[in-house]
Amino acid sequence: MRRAEELAGSGGLPAFVYDLGALREHVAAIRKALTGGPELFYAAKANPDAEILKTVAPYVDGIEVASGGELKHVRAVLPKARLAFGGPGKTDEELALAVREAERVHVESPHELSRLARIGRDVDVLLRVNLAGERKGVALAMSGPFGMDPEAIEACHEILAGAPWVRLRGIHAHLASGLEAEALVRQSEEILQWARPWLEKTGCTQNPEFNLGGGMAVDYTDPHRRFDWTTYGRQIAALAQPGEILRIEPGRAVTVYAGWYVTQVLDVKKAHGQWYAVLRGGTHHIRTPVTKNHNQPFTVLPRGEQGPAVNGAEVTLVGQLCTPKDVFARQVPVDRIAVGDVVAFSMAGAYAWNISHHDFLMHPKPGFHYLSG
Ligand SMILES: *Cc1c(COP(=O)(O)O)cnc(C)c1O
Repeated sequence: MRRAEELAGSGGLPAFVYDLGALREHVAAIRKALTGGPELFYAAKANPDAEILKTVAPYVDGIEVASGGELKHVRAVLPKARLAFGGPGKTDEELALAVREAERVHVESPHELSRLARIGRDVDVLLRVNLAGERKGVALAMSGPFGMDPEAIEACHEILAGAPWVRLRGIHAHLASGLEAEALVRQSEEILQWARPWLEKTGCTQNPEFNLGGGMAVDYTDPHRRFDWTTYGRQIAALAQPGEILRIEPGRAVTVYAGWYVTQVLDVKKAHGQWYAVLRGGTHHIRTPVTKNHNQPFTVLPRGEQGPAVNGAEVTLVGQLCTPKDVFARQVPVDRIAVGDVVAFSMAGAYAWNISHHDFLMHPKPGFHYLSG
């Protein structure tokens, strides 16, 4: 909050403020909760900011990347990191890069496996399976072209048999986002029950690997309610049979709490019976509330002494874009909001800046600031 005030004073808003001290503490606690349990990879696509990666790195076993661009970026920031390369639609260039740089390649289709085999170099792969079934109450079911149906994956046997340099290490599955600990453990059990006999049949019995994905729940309505890593860690550890290597690759639940998007009120007005606060910046900096269709949680820091204000009303917070979709939060009760006030949006450390359409309307880019704690 102090940094937000300073930035307002120096005309430095809007800005992202990343609390690296808080991130370090959070990821250290996750690591501790997973002691004796699965390996922990961080999904870089949640937030690939170099300072974020460097802060997370000492507490994770590796980084999951989902494109050639992410791979090169993470390699440059963390030259020694263990990398897993996943994602649908890999190009030949990306496959070649993955063979050179990634410890594991997550294969999404039989055709992709054939293309990888054609490179003719040693490579260690996990096959990504998409188990059908009901995924109720999840934020995002990974239905669609992700991985292979249990029927489709059968075609991999023949390809693997003809290309011994492609070493099958295990199975990868990332089925849904937004699951609480107990539900995620049940989903992992389901994956293991399917994957164990499949790998056995394929002859992959030497320390088989099971990447159980990410998707740990994040509750934007309550920034203080966190995923129960302790329960999850204990129960996941209990699932592993001797010799098996379990691995997870969360993104959002690792970094979301460490980021703030801080900006300032430009205008306050009533339109068609509704109060609006128009803020500097917008969803071209933080598209999260639009994509997730939620209210981004925020705190108002009073600074505005002159100009329009509203007291004790429901206010919709919008940005500077010429579209009705440029909304941070809808009809949220506030005690007071005034022109010049600073608004600090929390939970902006994941899928925020890096998923946004930065150039729409050509407004200035936000600043980036790091609290090292
Ligand atoms: C996006 C993604 C993740 C991370 O998901 P979160 O919801 O951020 O934890 C992990 N694995 C794969 C394959 C993904 O696509």
